[in-house]
Amino acid sequence: MNYCSLFSKAMLIFMMACSNLQAEQIKVLILDGPQKAHKYLDTTPVLRQTLIKAGIFKVDHLRSSKEGIKDGSYFPNFELYDVIVMNEGFGAMDWPKTVQKAFEKYMANGGGMVSIHTANNCWPKWKEYNKMTGLGGWGGRNEKSGPYLYVNDAGEVVRDTSKGRGGAHGPQHEFEIVVREKEHPIMKGLPATFKHGPDEMYDRLRGPAENVTILASSFSAKDKRGTGRHEPALMAISYGKGRIFHTILGHHVKQIKEGSFVTTFQRGTEWAATGKVTIPVPEDFPNQKFE
Ligand code: ZN
Repeated sequence: MNYCSLFSKAMLIFMMACSNLQAEQIKVLILDGPQKAHKYLDTTPVLRQTLIKAGIFKVDHLRSSKEGIKDGSYFPNFELYDVIVMNEGFGAMDWPKTVQKAFEKYMANGGGMVSIHTANNCWPKWKEYNKMTGLGGWGGRNEKSGPYLYVNDAGEVVRDTSKGRGGAHGPQHEFEIVVREKEHPIMKGLPATFKHGPDEMYDRLRGPAENVTILASSFSAKDKRGTGRHEPALMAISYGKGRIFHTILGHHVKQIKEGSFVTTFQRGTEWAATGKVTIPVPEDFPNQKFE
């Protein structure tokens, strides 16, 4: 091998290293912490791997603690990230007001957030967080939290202000996700309907429901203790200049390893960070294997 070809080889390796660096340019922070109903210690590492496998994310993780929240040392540096993945959940401790305000500012100025499953259960009294998730459940949520939001049989979005609790789900079962916004960057190229589950299908969610686009719905069957309505399953929400991808899917590790979750989560995270989606839909979606 002469010097010239050695040099070209070195250049090639250098360029490949650069393109890898460039490829992992979307900065993600996963947040979790003590909560009551979900095994975040198990799901967070899988969520992290799911994003890393997409090849375009650099993923950090920060876990809160009771002590850190009490003494003020818990303070994620939101501004360093393109998107915050909320693996927080039901029963999470309230963040200090200063952290809440910093997050509201980050989002209003164009930050990104992904709300996974139980992340719409936490913090019922934090008004701005509920605007970000659009809809939530449990934690005393009721008509004061905002309307129910669902799709009727004619395909129209209904804002239902009737009284009642917010948040329910029947037994885990397999269900069909129906795409409602096929031209949205997250949904483009996905089949019109696809299977997911067994998982918990949330229904009766309610919240401010401002600037919510229902990307996909699932029919909540009455024989599964559901509402008999097409309930929001995947949503895109805007908050100031910020973007939020909200998925009700993903109760536990088994569910977040399903192809239906993996692809929509990866694409939703990219969209929340950049407003665009480049991650392809696998040919065998939603049956692709994720290990
Ligand atoms: Zn759950």
